[in-house]
Amino acid sequence: MNILPRLLYLFQMLPLALSKKVLSKLNGSIISFIWRKKRPRLRYSFLCLPVQKGGLAAPSFPQYLLAAQFKFLTEWFMDDPDSIYLSAESTSLKGIPLRNLLYISSGKATVLTQDNMVLKNMLIIWRKVRRLEGYFNCFSLLTPIHENPDFLPGLRAGFADWSQKGINTVGDLVHENSLLTFNQLKSKFGLTNKDFLKYFQVKHYITSKLKDFNGGFGLSPTESLMVKTTQLKCITEKIYNILSDLRMDNSNKIKGQWESDVGVIDAEAWDELCCRPFKALASNSIWERQFKLINRLYITPEKRHIMFPALPNLCYKCQSAVGSFFHCLWSCPVILQFWRSLIDKLCVIFNCRLHLGPRTCLLGLNDELPAGFRSKDLLHILLHYARKCIMVLWWWSEGTVAPVSGSLASVSAPQGGCGYNVACHHQCVNVCVNGWMTGYVKRFGVLRD
Ligand SMILES: [Zn+2]
Repeated sequence: MNILPRLLYLFQMLPLALSKKVLSKLNGSIISFIWRKKRPRLRYSFLCLPVQKGGLAAPSFPQYLLAAQFKFLTEWFMDDPDSIYLSAESTSLKGIPLRNLLYISSGKATVLTQDNMVLKNMLIIWRKVRRLEGYFNCFSLLTPIHENPDFLPGLRAGFADWSQKGINTVGDLVHENSLLTFNQLKSKFGLTNKDFLKYFQVKHYITSKLKDFNGGFGLSPTESLMVKTTQLKCITEKIYNILSDLRMDNSNKIKGQWESDVGVIDAEAWDELCCRPFKALASNSIWERQFKLINRLYITPEKRHIMFPALPNLCYKCQSAVGSFFHCLWSCPVILQFWRSLIDKLCVIFNCRLHLGPRTCLLGLNDELPAGFRSKDLLHILLHYARKCIMVLWWWSEGTVAPVSGSLASVSAPQGGCGYNVACHHQCVNVCVNGWMTGYVKRFGVLRD
């Protein structure tokens, strides 16, 4: 997709907010493109999830806008003295560093930024991200002590000495969520007894602020990133990833549906399952097919009956049971015949006894495979093409996904090679296997997909 870089260029160059209307228009365009102007079968927010969480890592434009504009805030933290941008923006702040603006009360921040739209927008972005991260009610450990308009004694020169001694933020005075004692600060930063009054002033400021922020002390993931950042390369992507990880959507509902059909799936196996099609083969059509299967997007007779009550909910192949997703893929007698026949052939190909159930054949889990089985990737690729045969004949009522031409075409055990067909006349899939895993990708070049 080349649209995202074009938009990112604009997002990164213009530190200005976009209206919700513009963002929803952008999202609407991409949804319409993905679903070919048909009714979406899956929420777009779900498609935007990272692959590990079951999504397709589709771009979320509002999130990219936040991440791209957060890049400017990262520059505030880097505080490069040669930056023209920083010196231009900070002229209205009367010597207060730009990053301090993020930690002062909203009333004072509004007064300081009233003539500067860019600064106003940056504060809006900052607050949005803190809300998303769940740190809006936390007293940030990065709150400055010196040159902080909320802490008036900090504006005086006395606290500049503390800065030179290494005390710049509230985090420097806190250890394990509690304020250090004066004696601890004396030994840590070399303070003298003359600093005792300043210590009480700071302590009063922190305790009074903690009452306002009922979430206690906190350092958000984006703040941690900004503190460590020394160059802006890839910063938008890093912030976008942090925001993506915060998304509450996940594939647990789909996982629950599969578990009711095939038994418990542990979380690690599910995560691997969501990633596998993206690792094993590079074909986009394979990714798409596997994604649709895992997310149960195919319209079954049962689902179609809900959409159009006049249509029957019976399986098109056996005409005797409700056409649920699991029935259409596995438990239908016609389909089951196909799987049994196929598993027999796989036993010949791999030269071992395989007792495969829906966990392996449909989902590609490994727990049904015999111990020490070495050709897992190849087996899953072959099973993928078997599933494709069912998908191709999804709406056919004639039923014979069963291997009419699905006989084993050739077996050449001494040379460790074989070839076989796994589909009927609607879809000819000829998989040639020579040896085990080596070179399979190259050979798949001749596969008709
Ligand atoms: Zn059936």
